[in-house]
Amino acid sequence: MAPPGYEASAEDLAKKAAKRSAREAAGEKVGNAEGGPTGLGLVPEAEVLDALRDAVFAPLASETLYDPLTVADLAAPEDDYHRHTPSFSSEAARDVSADVWAEAKRVRQAAPAGATSEIRIHTVTCDEHGCDEEASRYGVLVKIEVAPGLTLHREYSVE
Ligand SMILES: [Zn+2]
Repeated sequence: MAPPGYEASAEDLAKKAAKRSAREAAGEKVGNAEGGPTGLGLVPEAEVLDALRDAVFAPLASETLYDPLTVADLAAPEDDYHRHTPSFSSEAARDVSADVWAEAKRVRQAAPAGATSEIRIHTVTCDEHGCDEEASRYGVLVKIEVAPGLTLHREYSVE
């Protein structure tokens, strides 16, 4: 359950952030919090966005965030002299197992109203010197437009 006042404050934060990014997009030099001077203990934009994201995605707070793949996800090279040269890719997943589908559905159902989601597959490969190690992981990317021009997203792990 959202605490009382959640709706109003999230909406307020969204408006502020949208206004700010519109001004930044217009090339305006934006100071801290509504153009005020910095150093007065006002909240920087990144923190405002983080707080907003936490508020908006609160219904999914118990879900595990997607953990990006790294070269360490590849199995150790068979050849002692080979060092992996990883390349990474991400795309919409087309064929998923029933388990992944069920997990993604669960996340989707818990997502805030108005959110959209997509199951993605992330892959890391190495194909240097005959190596063909590959590892992949699924995630479900949840997006929500909180104000015109301001879309927030978070990706959750699905196994
Ligand atoms: Zn390799």
